[in-house]
Amino acid sequence: MPFELSFSDEFFWGEGEPYEVDTRPTNVMQAIQSMSDQEWDDMCKEVFDGREVGVHDVMDKIREVNTCSDLRPPVRVWVDEEGYTTLTIYEKDDEEEAEEEKDDVERDERGYPLPTVDEPAFEDLEHMLLYRGTCDATDGCIVEPDGKCEHGHVSWGRYLGFV
Ligand SMILES: [Zn+2]
Repeated sequence: MPFELSFSDEFFWGEGEPYEVDTRPTNVMQAIQSMSDQEWDDMCKEVFDGREVGVHDVMDKIREVNTCSDLRPPVRVWVDEEGYTTLTIYEKDDEEEAEEEKDDVERDERGYPLPTVDEPAFEDLEHMLLYRGTCDATDGCIVEPDGKCEHGHVSWGRYLGFV
């Protein structure tokens, strides 16, 4: 059963974060920008009589059609009056959970996560920084000499204050 769209601006436009292409978009603009070329072509044909349109035309159309299939996430937003083309908007929770997990990590006074592997010998560290061009991070990942891995651990060089 279709409902009228009655969502906040954040639902349509996000909260100022970049509109990264995502398989689980969390706002309408992101969902529009995450459509595949095929989906986009189909939509132009079905909804816009084959006209080439831009993302803002699609957003205008969605506001005009003003219909969705669900009120709780994931919400399917209709792009056309028949509900032929729809966009699915997901809840934002995953991201928040990931951040909470990150905050579980024990950190030193500089905000660096505490090392989970043994500190390398000085010669090894010197070799990494001078010759290898990469450095082990404090959890064993390989990063840029002054880098940080996806887990938030910095390189030993940075951790120990050499770079
Ligand atoms: Zn790591």
